[in-house]
Amino acid sequence: MALRIIVQEPDEVLHQVAKEVKKITPNVQKLLTDMAETMYDAEGVGLAAPQVGILKRAIVINVGDEHGLIELINPEIVSKEGEQFGPEGCLSIQGLRGDVRRAQTVTVKGLDRNGKEVTYTGSDLLARAFQHEIDHLNGVLYTDVAERVYEITPEGEEKV
Ligand SMILES: [Zn+2]
Repeated sequence: MALRIIVQEPDEVLHQVAKEVKKITPNVQKLLTDMAETMYDAEGVGLAAPQVGILKRAIVINVGDEHGLIELINPEIVSKEGEQFGPEGCLSIQGLRGDVRRAQTVTVKGLDRNGKEVTYTGSDLLARAFQHEIDHLNGVLYTDVAERVYEITPEGEEKV
């Protein structure tokens, strides 16, 4: 395991479309392991491969619910339901937060680290994390879709 460096805005890699993983090699599995370690170290709830500079379609999420760590390769949203509106941040964008409208519940399909097809349905924060991380794979940041973006203090309060 190894910590990777989290790429920061305005790095161009964050705005590119990541490529499908055609074959799950030990390198891809190591990438997932490193991404989870990097996410925990940064105290985030999700991380996408482009955020560590790798343009592959892979994400990790752990929102602290019963799912624990979710690792997904080539994830795709297969259905969306309802709506939620609330604050969102990103490990690649320091000092900002934004209010983003997202689906309330999503079902996501992808491959696990062994190439087995898996499906997750999540609501609230988990749904938000799926949508945020999958956006990263398409070069989309929350600041591109937020209705309002604002500065926050190091303590996480909105700056007035
Ligand atoms: Zn992000």
